[in-house]
Amino acid sequence: MHLMKGRTIGFVPTMGALHEGHLSLIKRAKMENDITVASIFVNPAQFGPTEDLEKYPRDIENDTIKLRRHEIDILLLPDRNLMYTNGFSTYINVDPLSEKLCGMFRPGHFKGVATVVAKLLNIVSPTRAYFGQKDFQQTVIIKRMVKDLNLGVDIVVCPTIREHDGLAMSSRNSYLDGEQRKAAPVLYRCLNKASDAIKSGIINTEQIKELMTKALSDKALITQIDYASVYHPETLEEIKEIKGEVLIAAAVRIGDTRLIDNMPVNL
Ligand code: AMP
Repeated sequence: MHLMKGRTIGFVPTMGALHEGHLSLIKRAKMENDITVASIFVNPAQFGPTEDLEKYPRDIENDTIKLRRHEIDILLLPDRNLMYTNGFSTYINVDPLSEKLCGMFRPGHFKGVATVVAKLLNIVSPTRAYFGQKDFQQTVIIKRMVKDLNLGVDIVVCPTIREHDGLAMSSRNSYLDGEQRKAAPVLYRCLNKASDAIKSGIINTEQIKELMTKALSDKALITQIDYASVYHPETLEEIKEIKGEVLIAAAVRIGDTRLIDNMPVNL
């Protein structure tokens, strides 16, 4: 760390299978810091017992090529057994933010996220850490944790990068078969419809919720809607009457694949 003295460090934690979303964070970190560090770690603590930990896409060879091309300075590849040594027992809970939205459907997920991010921030000691708006709840929880625990790092939230049909890029998109992939952009269209409706003057959340559910139900391949509504961007509470800055967010399942997306709206 001696070499780093006086230089700024930008850190981008990821779970790998890198796409343009991840790379946009890397580019931003490079632009704003002297040294760029990325990590790839598929964190077991954030997967539920029935979730996709073992089948989660891993492509370290291509990831390394992409990161080389982007000329990052350090790639951290933590070992599972070193991150969670025998007897590991310290976890971070960011209540009640962790219980909202995705937290309701993925119990323990954000406890795993907060814990691993805190560990990685302690290991890297960055000046700034970069996260995607796509995982909005994650950014709110991490900002809260950094403030509460005086972690002294700037959290930078970067815009969601999308495929040309609007689908938010995600490592999990590779699970989708041809038909499912064609249906998936309905999620982004639904957010746009909700955003347009709010901007046109509908400020009653129930009406927006109805419109979103209808848009999503249009596609038979959407097998479940976990949530689709309008939320306060800091407390993540569902709001009744829309005013000021709000967050439209939804999570759906297409077959076994869970997709999330969100859109901020400022009235
Ligand atoms: P993951 O590898 O899925 O844990 O993501 C690592 C980081 O990349 C997180 O901060 C994500 O929010 C961010 N990220 C993932 N997908 C996107 C995207 N489509 N656009 C921008 N950032 C993203």
